[in-house]
Amino acid sequence: MLESKNFIEQIIEEDLKKGLSPSKLKFRFPPEPNGFLHIGHVKAICINFSLAKRYNAPIVLRFDDTNPEKEEEKYIQAIKKDVSWLGFDWDEERYASDYFETLYNWAVDLIKKGKAYIDSQSSEEIAEQKGTPTRPGFNSPHRNRLAEENLDLFNKMKDGAFDEGTHVLRAKIDMSSTNMLMRDPVIYRVLKKSHPRTKNDWIIYPMYDWAHGESDYIEQISHSLCTLEFEPHRELYDWFLDQVFEANKIRPKQREFARLNLSHTITSKRKLMHLVDKGHVSGWDDPRMPTVSGLKRRGYPPSALVSFVKTAGVAKRENVIEASLLEFCAREELNKSSKRAMVVLDPLKITITNYPEGQTEHISSENNPEDPESDFREIPFSRELFIEREDFKPEANRKFFRLKLGKEVRLKSAYIIRANEAVYNDNQEIIEVKCTYDPLSKSGSGTEESQRKVKGTLHWVSKKQAFPIEVREYDRLFLHPSPSTAKNNDELSQMLNPNSKKITKAFAEPSLKSSKPGNRYQFQRKGYFVVDKDTTPDQIVFNKTVGLRDNWKNS
Ligand code: ATP
Ligand code: MG
Repeated sequence: MLESKNFIEQIIEEDLKKGLSPSKLKFRFPPEPNGFLHIGHVKAICINFSLAKRYNAPIVLRFDDTNPEKEEEKYIQAIKKDVSWLGFDWDEERYASDYFETLYNWAVDLIKKGKAYIDSQSSEEIAEQKGTPTRPGFNSPHRNRLAEENLDLFNKMKDGAFDEGTHVLRAKIDMSSTNMLMRDPVIYRVLKKSHPRTKNDWIIYPMYDWAHGESDYIEQISHSLCTLEFEPHRELYDWFLDQVFEANKIRPKQREFARLNLSHTITSKRKLMHLVDKGHVSGWDDPRMPTVSGLKRRGYPPSALVSFVKTAGVAKRENVIEASLLEFCAREELNKSSKRAMVVLDPLKITITNYPEGQTEHISSENNPEDPESDFREIPFSRELFIEREDFKPEANRKFFRLKLGKEVRLKSAYIIRANEAVYNDNQEIIEVKCTYDPLSKSGSGTEESQRKVKGTLHWVSKKQAFPIEVREYDRLFLHPSPSTAKNNDELSQMLNPNSKKITKAFAEPSLKSSKPGNRYQFQRKGYFVVDKDTTPDQIVFNKTVGLRDNWKNS
């Protein structure tokens, strides 16, 4: 089948037509290990890994670890775990820090060629001289230092003779370029910080632009795909490549695609870190977080995340995707794959007065009607049951297809019951409903009564055998539809939804006793739920992934 090609695939096809050998295609996904991956990264992961798969080309997982102030080993581990969980394998694991020696030597070459110099001004002075997009910058007083002096100073920088912020190495390009990034960008700075991998070997670190393109070149990446904010960096990317490029090598090509933005949430590690640091969430994997680990803990299957970013598409223009699309993709997936179970979240006792006291029978119910190979499970049924409090009203209009006095409903997979009397406590609250059942109406028993149509079907559990579970339900983390517009962290905090988490005790059918963290279920008529890692031998904890779009049709 011919699939339509997105604009990146078209670029690659063009390059192949122009003579690039398919065996030279190579891609990379280059996260900075300064936080956990979020749903935006899933887009970049899918783009790069899908291209590798489509063209049978290798792919590198490269950690862009050039800023030891923010990077940590724990983020490296978390990123690897998340990419694997999403279902992707990489051919090579690399680190920009693997290339520190090469990058340093190339910087020395730049100095020797008169294309880089040490600037001994403060960062404020340098920024001041940069100019503005409409006003050219002016030259640093150190711009014409001789190569020898520059080499000597660069060596001293490397050996620790200078404090942070006192000296930087700058590329000598053009202080009047219309592209501000070309105005003698800084390529090395002093950072007296231990690095997660190189420890204390280095105290000078390359800047992003110098490290990124050159790492692509070292790895011989054919297409270096990044988000649109890097478009102005492309000119610098190419300038840096020109300095080291040798004939017969692959010259990596930077191309940009639009970021994925999701409504009602943020996709920025820095801002997500703020939520973690301030305790607005329990951690990076809080089920309300748009991180891969948060979505996983919330119960999203990896296939739903992948199908979500595929549906959102690859484009050149920024847009905001509605969070409801992500929920839609989750439902589609979960409907196919989750086992069904009955859980009553807000119990109301019903007593079936014509059902023998002390008797229990076992009702057979299909685990997943969407799965042709589904098996069945047994659910105990007895005289005292729980139904959902909201499923009973003494009186209601014709549109209330649930239980009301004098009317019938079916209990899912079991019998038709009729409500006869509501029992109240002193506060006029209903504490019990007395019902009768039709013994011939059992689902699947083949009798005429079992075929009888009644309007509503309710889920239920048997009071004696049901066991308590903790259910955590979530709402959007932010009330504001676009929290990324917050100007600062305080404003961001104010956009939070104060009621985004609700914890309840619910009653579950006994088959759920054997469920394990990560197991996903559809709680019938209630939504999709997953067992949380906070589960203990005494208490099973469920997270609500997403609600059902519709309640059941009549069964
Ligand atoms: P953040 O601002 O969240 O830290 P980043 O771009 O700094 O994001 P990196 O770890 O540097 O994060 O990104 C790794 C790759 O993922 C880059 O190629 C980047 O362009 C891409 N990426 C990051 N955020 C998004 C997003 N929202 N949509 C698509 N791709 C993204
Ligand atoms: Mg970054």
